[in-house]
Amino acid sequence: MKIELKKVEDVDLQDRTVFVRVDYNVPLDNAIIVDTTRIDRSLPTLDLLLDKGAKVILASHLGRPKGIKESRFSLAPVAKYLTRYANEDVPLIENYIEDSGASVREALANHRIVLLENLRFYEEEKKGDAEFAKTLASFADIYVNDAFGTSHRAHASMAGVPKHIPGYAGLLLRHEIDNLSRILNIKDADRPFICVLGGAKVADKIPIISNLLERADIIMIGGGMAFSFLKCQGMNVGSSLVNDNSVDECRYILEKAQRLGIDFVLPMDVVIAPGVSSQTGENVDVDNIPHGMMGLDIGQETREVFISILQNARTIFWNGPMGVFEEEPFRKGTDMLAKAISACDAFSVIGGGDSVVVVNELGIADDFDHISTGGGASLEFISGVNLPGIAALLD
Ligand code: ADP
Ligand code: MG
Repeated sequence: MKIELKKVEDVDLQDRTVFVRVDYNVPLDNAIIVDTTRIDRSLPTLDLLLDKGAKVILASHLGRPKGIKESRFSLAPVAKYLTRYANEDVPLIENYIEDSGASVREALANHRIVLLENLRFYEEEKKGDAEFAKTLASFADIYVNDAFGTSHRAHASMAGVPKHIPGYAGLLLRHEIDNLSRILNIKDADRPFICVLGGAKVADKIPIISNLLERADIIMIGGGMAFSFLKCQGMNVGSSLVNDNSVDECRYILEKAQRLGIDFVLPMDVVIAPGVSSQTGENVDVDNIPHGMMGLDIGQETREVFISILQNARTIFWNGPMGVFEEEPFRKGTDMLAKAISACDAFSVIGGGDSVVVVNELGIADDFDHISTGGGASLEFISGVNLPGIAALLD
């Protein structure tokens, strides 16, 4: 299956206004951008549009505000970063819905680039509201999707805006699709295909694993994701991260894996502590997690087993940290796994905001064949799920 998207390079953009949906959902620490990968990856598209004489409206979400304006979810740090990059003022536009775009038009009279404040400050964005999408579309002549990381969401700025103005794929989106298609259309010569999944977005990611079982040869689970699976096997997981709504689904996935003959590898030991701020952790077997303790990293034996299985891989997809890597005592599993994957000969792809932070911190990003800007989106794409943001460009 080859996905052919309309290229924005082929369009005359002189004096046209382009609405670019980017994914600037960057990790922040007190309004400081911890990792700028997602912004940096969108800059070639921005440069291309400016070179072609376009005016550019950049729009993104950040975090998960619940439809209200909260300053900790402001894109102001991103506007500052872009201003420095472009060497010209990139204003951050607020209240653009309330004024029906008057502030956007006014800013574009004097600027080539403007950034809209967090789209999720409006609850209509996540609801995929048609009127909201129409208002956003009225700001521009042309729509470009360069937000691969959000393309699995049928949100207004993803699937709605290109219903009103012509929609094109940006350079980042096409690069992602080209690379991830190698896994989506995996050839026998590229097997075994091993997936390593972790992280904390359990409810979002568990439903996808069922699809992934039809493509992968081996799936290894670490991070917060593991505990819903361990719990469904009757294990006592203490106060580890568990999504109780996912437990039935986990049971179904384990049964399906067995039926299909897919190796589904769960941790055999974990590092536990009373909480994420603990100074040290203790390595215990998974059937020995005391009441009140949290599993915060995969244990030593699990690390060794995961790494030895990886040695046979021809293709590796990794999404989601193996533990709470933000805290020193719980980052060893993630670090070791990242280094092991980077050293493998396999075609290696890593996806996800947090997983990417880790490989950047370790300075091994260049050792991966592809670093995807999407976690959930890359997982859905390689699983064969139709992504609404991409489908909207094909209509
Ligand atoms: P990605 O951004 O790579 O797609 P997620 O957003 O799903 O990954 O998850 C990343 C988060 O998962 C990190 O903040 C990390 O601290 C957290 N995490 C990993 N393992 C655990 C665990 N055992 N318990 C709680 N949180 C965890
Ligand atoms: Mg994340």
